[in-house]
Amino acid sequence: MGAASRFQNLHERHRHFDRCRRGTFPVTDTYRGRFAPSPTGRLHFGSLVAALGSWLFARAAGGQWLVRIEDLDREREVPGAARDILATLAAFGMTSDEAVLVQSERTALYAETLRRLGTDGHAYRCWCSRADLERYGGIHPAQCVAAPSSRTPAWRLRVGAGVVAFDDAVCGRFEQDLAVEVGDFVIWRADGACAYQLAVVVDDAAQGITDIVRGADLLDSTPRQLLLQRLLGLPQPRYAHLPLALDALGRKLSKHDAAHSVDAADPLPALRAALAFLGQPPRDESKPERLLLEAVRAFDPTRIARSEPPIAAARNASP
Ligand code: GLU
Repeated sequence: MGAASRFQNLHERHRHFDRCRRGTFPVTDTYRGRFAPSPTGRLHFGSLVAALGSWLFARAAGGQWLVRIEDLDREREVPGAARDILATLAAFGMTSDEAVLVQSERTALYAETLRRLGTDGHAYRCWCSRADLERYGGIHPAQCVAAPSSRTPAWRLRVGAGVVAFDDAVCGRFEQDLAVEVGDFVIWRADGACAYQLAVVVDDAAQGITDIVRGADLLDSTPRQLLLQRLLGLPQPRYAHLPLALDALGRKLSKHDAAHSVDAADPLPALRAALAFLGQPPRDESKPERLLLEAVRAFDPTRIARSEPPIAAARNASP
């Protein structure tokens, strides 16, 4: 969808640029957003919200929307899930504007980036196990506890002192003292896989992503990614973290739980529910494509609810 074609009339165009000036939409002709699912199961309502949210932001800005399969965690991968997610997205009217990037095919680039970080003194080998770090609350104290051994080490990023802060388009200001709250973190795992934090930064930059819209469970990963971008001299994207869909017990929906997977054969009910979840007004169009088009026209990001901080904090413990 080109920037020129997306307004019905002059009034709508003015309204859009008025919103841009007020900061509702980023002012850019080159907006590039993305959806980056891990193929750990079928698309569920929570990931549909992230897909739709990122798609709406991108389309409302006249920008592009890319899909990337984040399949570095081979243990959690479910065979066929990547294909299934892409087919489900297509049934919902959302397809990548460029070839889908697959992280497992990009290890050489990640390894090259790790080498650079190591050479520049930002990353170091670490033999510490989870058990070793238990008495530090799981936070690496910047001095390794375990001595080098014959086991393959992980690589950690030196976070140094200081607070990393950014302004999230939905959640507002977010600050994190990395040394205190996270510690030196793993960017290359002992099992030989590149860690999420490094791969995501490399790929967002490689794909020229200007705006990252994703679930609020990743809000507290963002400062780690900002630090990596700074150390690698990469541009910093804008961020919007969407509220998380929770199950009846208040837990984040999981792709492992088939009960919450969305029905590709009948996309409208889930699309309507996802729009409502994002605070957007109800629509009664009877075709997904039509519904999406109208949703883009009426999209108002200020209606998206801000996540409660405990939801984001829940991820603090995971790598
Ligand atoms: N692959 C991650 C997930 O499925 C999302 C990563 C991101 O959007 O940065 O939870």
